[in-house]
Amino acid sequence: MTARRSEYLDALGLQAYVPRLPLPLGSPPPPVAGESQGLGWDDLADAVSDCRRCALCGTRTQTVFGVGARDARLMVVGEAPGAEEDRQGEPFVGRAGQLLNAVLRAAGFGREQVFIANILKCRPPNNRDPLPAEVEQCLPYLERQIELLRPALLLCVGRIAAQNLLRTDVTIGRLRGRVHTLPSGLPVVVTYHPAYLLRSPGEKRKVWDDLKLAMGVLRDGHRA
Ligand code: SF4
Repeated sequence: MTARRSEYLDALGLQAYVPRLPLPLGSPPPPVAGESQGLGWDDLADAVSDCRRCALCGTRTQTVFGVGARDARLMVVGEAPGAEEDRQGEPFVGRAGQLLNAVLRAAGFGREQVFIANILKCRPPNNRDPLPAEVEQCLPYLERQIELLRPALLLCVGRIAAQNLLRTDVTIGRLRGRVHTLPSGLPVVVTYHPAYLLRSPGEKRKVWDDLKLAMGVLRDGHRA
């Protein structure tokens, strides 16, 4: 950010937005953590529920592993558990979860037909953004889930999920609307988080456009 822009923001009483980067740009993906590498679903779930790899283990009620069909073609990835998810042990419950369910239904998916997980498996206090060190410790679990699931498409909901999985600081507004590809070849579509949609219902049209893009990839495949 330039000094002049900083002065303008100060004069307006606004706090400059500084994106939180999970990892230095251009850094290679962290290796799958030794304890999660090669694990099957049940052992991986056990490893997550016992995990103490970052300080969030001290404030969580319980871990939130993820939920859904273990042969799902569509995997939905969000940011981190919120208060209700921390209580129930399931991702995307509460109002945002209901809206996600409705969006998925509109695209022809029951909640039980997809797999839903988060970048972080434990709730950050006060729903703050995940810290880079937390993401670095937790991401191998999600990467192992992706390896086990082998979905046809990842749908990233929200800025945190998209920037961490795609390892970029590009805004979500510029990430959505096209198909990305992970190094493994897995296609990724980005859309807004349902919690954002609850605050900005006028953006539902864009989410529907993203869902149509996702459905097209699932139907026709994607050539990188
Ligand atoms: S957030 Fe992830 S790495 Fe940190 S304690 Fe929870 S499961 Fe472990």
